[in-house]
Amino acid sequence: MRNVVDGLIGEVFARCRENRTGELADYIPELAAVAPDSFSLCIATSDGYVYESGDAHTEFTIQSISKPLTYGLALADRGLSAVAEKIDVEPSGEPFNEISLDPVTERPRNPMINAGAIAAASLIDGDDAEHRFERLRRCYSRYAGRELALNEAVYRSEARTGHRNRAIGHMLRSFGIIADDPDAAVDLYFRQCSIDVTCRDLALMGATLANNGVNPVTHERALAPDLVERVLSVMTTCGMYDAAGDWVTQVGLPAKSGVGGGVLAVLPGQIGIAVYSPRLDAHGNSVRGVQACRELSKELELHFLHVT
Ligand code: GLU
Repeated sequence: MRNVVDGLIGEVFARCRENRTGELADYIPELAAVAPDSFSLCIATSDGYVYESGDAHTEFTIQSISKPLTYGLALADRGLSAVAEKIDVEPSGEPFNEISLDPVTERPRNPMINAGAIAAASLIDGDDAEHRFERLRRCYSRYAGRELALNEAVYRSEARTGHRNRAIGHMLRSFGIIADDPDAAVDLYFRQCSIDVTCRDLALMGATLANNGVNPVTHERALAPDLVERVLSVMTTCGMYDAAGDWVTQVGLPAKSGVGGGVLAVLPGQIGIAVYSPRLDAHGNSVRGVQACRELSKELELHFLHVT
């Protein structure tokens, strides 16, 4: 079985590598400076086997793939209902960085857009800013099964240029979604986006979610089972920017992408799939990431509505 899957990953990898369409994110210099054709595809199974191809150990920043992980920690810290009072679970259909709340509920529509992600960051417990970040960093590390670190240069650039996110933070404060200092929540969000990961790390993060919250290699728990279901639900409906409908139709897996070029997808109970390829489509999703997941889903019949 492993040889068959290895062979198939190799074929999908070779086909996607030919695709050089899309543009690098360029809102900060560090993202515009990465190798544009860098490419990796990894799959980690819920029993801890990892298939790797390409640049599986190249580091890149996790960016928005951090959002479901922080949301999970906020749920663990505050409980489902306290978080639900602040952040809804409805797809927004708006750009991820829209400066708006749902007009009826006056909450961010979901934790995968920036407003919801910054609100989630404000709910992380800790004695001070360092402690909160350290709790997040350790949480992400448990998913990956190794110690992850902050990319200082990306963090500094995010902090220097992130005026829109600061505007979102202050909007959240004015509506009472954030109770105290909005700049502290936005700073934590900048730092979480700036954590370096590899494609292998992302695959293991996916496998941890697939394995009901337990890292299948280290056997450490990253998230409680009841919260895994909530996190995967919002990834299903809101994870791929405003291409979420296309994604569910064509791939049919809970997923999250980031402007650093990573894509993480999960087949619950089975596998985590990760792709790193920094050329992005108009929605901000990795071009090869979307293609590879679409092809793997079709060939391996992974769509969650697929009936054999
Ligand atoms: N740091 C980015 C921002 O919030 C994350 C972008 C993303 O990956 O969607 O602007």
